[in-house]
Amino acid sequence: RGRTFAMIKPDCYSHIGKIVDTIVTAGFRISHMKMAHFTIDDARQFYAEHQGKPFYNELVNFMASDVVVGMELIAENAVPRWRELMGPTNPNTARVDAPRSLRAVFGTEGSHNAVHGSDAPASATREINFFFGLQANP
Ligand code: ATP
Ligand code: MG
Repeated sequence: RGRTFAMIKPDCYSHIGKIVDTIVTAGFRISHMKMAHFTIDDARQFYAEHQGKPFYNELVNFMASDVVVGMELIAENAVPRWRELMGPTNPNTARVDAPRSLRAVFGTEGSHNAVHGSDAPASATREINFFFGLQANP
């Protein structure tokens, strides 16, 4: 069985239930789930691969702006299957190319694209260890 790391971003607080329902209905098993509020430094570390890109600061500020929900998802081919369910990175593109996808339905624009998914099994391991190892902040 494969696994991936999924995260509901801060723009989707009011849709957490619907997104969890979609995940389970699509056949993933949720083996771990946690709510967290990233500090700016947590968000910088989580998205370190994007440091220096024009959207990096906006992305980091957004990800630290409110709570997120992180999940370890278990399924055969979990990484590509979850990315398929999320849809394209840009919600406007998603609404054209994958109108039933989570980003099409719940994303707004740019960084505010509702959900995150690991891009490879090695990223999933790194992200799961990072997220579930975070100190709870008061
Ligand atoms: P994620 O890693 O969040 O699952 P992704 O793998 O589809 O998304 P990446 O290229 O890894 O896309 O970008 C990480 C995140 O940075 C995107 O989800 C989005 O929030 C933000 N982002 C990426 N490109 C842009 C952009 N051109 N403008 C604004 N934000 C962007
Ligand atoms: Mg990515």
